[in-house]
Amino acid sequence: TMLPVELTLVVAATRDMGIGRAGTLPWTGLKKEMAYFARVTKRLPADAQPPAMNAVIMGRKTWDSIPVKFRPLKGRLNIVISRSHPENTAADLDVEKEPVKVGSLAQALEYLKTHTPAGTGAAATKAFVIGGAQIYGASLALPEARRVLLTRVMDDFDCDTFFPLRLPSEEGEGKWAQRSKEELDAWTGETVTEGVQEENGTRYEFQMWERVD
Ligand code: NDP
Repeated sequence: TMLPVELTLVVAATRDMGIGRAGTLPWTGLKKEMAYFARVTKRLPADAQPPAMNAVIMGRKTWDSIPVKFRPLKGRLNIVISRSHPENTAADLDVEKEPVKVGSLAQALEYLKTHTPAGTGAAATKAFVIGGAQIYGASLALPEARRVLLTRVMDDFDCDTFFPLRLPSEEGEGKWAQRSKEELDAWTGETVTEGVQEENGTRYEFQMWERVD
């Protein structure tokens, strides 16, 4: 059976939705923020067991922005989208060493639907879209995009790349609602630090938004 894939976008953005500058993040030194990202994207839902893994889907430029020694991102199925990728991913791919390479977001979803980890069921793992702006934009156009885990950065940074949805959303962007701290904890499976955090002189807050139909 084909199970639907639900997409959760994970992003850290300033109040005017700035997410990047010159191919990298606008800020540095948000170690606890990056640790939150790693935990949340790795943690399996309660009904899934290893060797099942959650998936992280990203654009080629975001892949390039990750230092070589940190990629593929550990403990997650990495899927990278590029127009120069082949039509079929190698069947003997070692996912610990290489990303799954696909030519479109549609192919990424197709891959998730057809490569069910043995005995787990595709719906048992989570699929995250981790950037950048181009791939967030493509995702938000799909009904599968249900949720945004937003790290709202409260300080201003000079950015050249922006998340293509304002939160709170405006007319014509679809309806998105912020969920409570309890709902964020339940969805992530951890007790998320509440309120405004500060690291390295930068203030931020962990939020969850969901599409309201
Ligand atoms: P992306 O990471 O979205 O990658 C863009 C690339 O993806 C394109 O060049 C192309 O690869 C491929 N691609 C895009 N659309 C398609 C399509 N329809 N079909 C096939 N391939 C496609 O790049 P952005 O420039 O938008 O974002 C990168 C920036 O975002 C960086 O500054 C990064 O640091 C930042 N970022 C910030 C995050 C945050 O949470 N703050 C998270 C992630 C990234 P190709 O050219 O190879 O064909």
